[in-house]
Amino acid sequence: MVAVDNAQGMDFPAQRLGLLIVLSGPSGTGKTTLAHRVCDRGEAVFSVSCTTRAPRPGEVDGKDYFFLQEADFVERIGRGEFFEHASVHGRRYGTLKSYVVENLKRGTDVILDIDVQGAAQVRACDDEHVRRCLLDVFVMPPGLEELRVRLSGRATEDAAAFELRMRNAAGEMAHWREYSHVLVSGTREEDAARFEALVTAARMRSSLRV
Ligand code: 5GP
Repeated sequence: MVAVDNAQGMDFPAQRLGLLIVLSGPSGTGKTTLAHRVCDRGEAVFSVSCTTRAPRPGEVDGKDYFFLQEADFVERIGRGEFFEHASVHGRRYGTLKSYVVENLKRGTDVILDIDVQGAAQVRACDDEHVRRCLLDVFVMPPGLEELRVRLSGRATEDAAAFELRMRNAAGEMAHWREYSHVLVSGTREEDAARFEALVTAARMRSSLRV
């Protein structure tokens, strides 16, 4: 999946670790679209999270999320299955550890679309490999009014859930400084071009060669 660079006969590891790409930002900023564009080209894999929220129309279990009951989610916490987990908009969300770790070791880039609490847990991880692999990006909407327009255009939430997401947006945006990169959202094309440029550059990091 990942192109292996060769520098034959030199002290240079042929294989590299995958990039751990963490994307955060308020609902409606287009994070999921950005992630899927890169994954659909086969250049990275998307980490399918577990959640206790209900599926939206058209969402597929195992593709968009693993939709779990509360008790199942709590049991998985107990078994240490999550790389990170948090409550977001009143529901639980978590990233499966095994999927992330196996792909990074194999040299496959993994994209996590997670909230600011989850990103903070990943950043605090004391595993040296995780630190070497991490590329954390905050996707900043151009403004709250534009975010409202985008989120309402999506029409995936009922009125109460929509207002909750709008209220939480400002709180999430206050965390942008914790990320190594911030992408101020423009058009879809601009966002995609910037994100892809960032990922392309990060793939050349010497820290990924171990
Ligand atoms: P949604 O319900 O719109 O799919 O996602 C709501 C929020 O939960 C988004 O900000 C998304 O980034 C976040 N989220 C999705 N999966 C995870 C996860 O595994 N962990 C954490 N911490 N947040 C997640």
